[in-house]
Amino acid sequence: MNGSGKKTVKKSKTENVTTFTELGLNDNILKAIDDVGYTTPTPIQEQAIPYVLQMRDVLGCAQTGTGKTASFTLPMIEMMASGRARARMPRSLILEPTRELATQVADNFKLYGKYHPGLSMALLIGGENMEPQIKNLERGVDLLIATPGRLIDLFERGRIMPNDIKIFVIDEADRMLDMGFIPDIEKIAGRLPAMRQTLLFSATMPPEIRKLANKFLSNPKEVTVSPPSSASVTINHSLIDLPSGNDWQKREALRHLLRQEDVLNAFIFCNRKRDVALLQKSLAKHGFNAGALHGDLDQSTRTETLDSFKSGSISLLVCSDVAARGLDIADVSHVFNFDVPFNAEDYIHRIGRTGRAGKTGTAVTLVTPDEAKLITAIETLIKKEIQRGTIDGLPEPDMAQSRRARPSSASSPARTPRGRRPRDESKPRYQKSTGEVYVSPRPVPHPDSTPASVVTSHDAPEGPHAFGDSLPAFLRRPRTVAKRSS
Ligand code: AMP
Repeated sequence: MNGSGKKTVKKSKTENVTTFTELGLNDNILKAIDDVGYTTPTPIQEQAIPYVLQMRDVLGCAQTGTGKTASFTLPMIEMMASGRARARMPRSLILEPTRELATQVADNFKLYGKYHPGLSMALLIGGENMEPQIKNLERGVDLLIATPGRLIDLFERGRIMPNDIKIFVIDEADRMLDMGFIPDIEKIAGRLPAMRQTLLFSATMPPEIRKLANKFLSNPKEVTVSPPSSASVTINHSLIDLPSGNDWQKREALRHLLRQEDVLNAFIFCNRKRDVALLQKSLAKHGFNAGALHGDLDQSTRTETLDSFKSGSISLLVCSDVAARGLDIADVSHVFNFDVPFNAEDYIHRIGRTGRAGKTGTAVTLVTPDEAKLITAIETLIKKEIQRGTIDGLPEPDMAQSRRARPSSASSPARTPRGRRPRDESKPRYQKSTGEVYVSPRPVPHPDSTPASVVTSHDAPEGPHAFGDSLPAFLRRPRTVAKRSS
């Protein structure tokens, strides 16, 4: 912002780049954008903002990380800048699939709307006391940002009169679909005035989302940025084939990786909430600074854990897919998939938590033989083979057995007679550089690391904890494939 408080975002005519000024946003929004440090609109912003300002319905195909939140919140601020909400009669509604995403959008709205102090917002999410939310609604709010369950609850209690809602945003529609929220969305949309503007954003456009769009959007403008099935080029992602599906072997392999990789902080994804809790306890027991995040935790714990991860007081966040979408934490060095996601698209979302805002990131997926089919689906989706890495000291699995489900690929190195891939020097090996180098996050004594109460029954038999101390315990054990219960 310049001294006079006037807009400073200018178009560079020579580069023919669209500026925020040209998108038709008011000076107070431009000032806020300038304060945040955005210089040029992202492609989704460039495409969507003009249509939103023309009050057109918009069907946006864009992943998180593309700047899509600003593509609808900025023009909403512009359109709501004049006029005020009456008690219980909000003027616009943004639906988000998870509480974390709703909170993140609310945070963005506060940033972008900071020079519009008259605009008010209510965040309506489950797991939190309803009374302050109701009081807020009574005062009259311009924008509601909500998760479906809490919103319907408040509708049913008569706390919201939807007659004034003129702008309705369905964000992360494909995630809503995965989470079974489509009937809720239909219920909510059915209560809103027919004369409204609807914006629907989704990372992918499966037929169910098209159907939803056909039902609720009127002659929408479609805007699409970057194909939904691509992983960011700033992410170096690879797989480690493990010899068996035994959980404690997986945990041991993960610990080796955490010690050998240059990990500053990481998301570690599990497929099941139960496993999130087990793995977090196991890591804590082994001295790692880890927190857990999944949908069964109460909201204050979820918020506290996420804040601790953002501030750096927790360096590893073991989580379910509740954290896979949209969470925007700028400096995450690594993502580990402790389990291969069941849904191939979730792979892209999970690894997309790193390598954000132009930074590079690393994602490593542990793959047991029974997960090979899931890898096939991911490689089919992203249309390329994911590079394989190994952990020094870990045995390479019997490739013929573990990768039976993988399609043959011209780029795959030929296999040796024993069924293993020959060593490919271009692959990451996750080996320690020298001797006993320990990299962050350094295992630190955890206050709760009282071994008796934790997961010893599920955990590896006591063996060397630090890779390199001696041969890892599981190398000395017969290979058995333990069936995982769901
Ligand atoms: P989103 O896809 O909305 O989650 O945004 C992803 C990240 O991009 C967030 O950290 C935003 O702050 C950032 N961002 C959004 N718009 C811009 C822009 N025009 N220039 C730079 N960064 C942006």
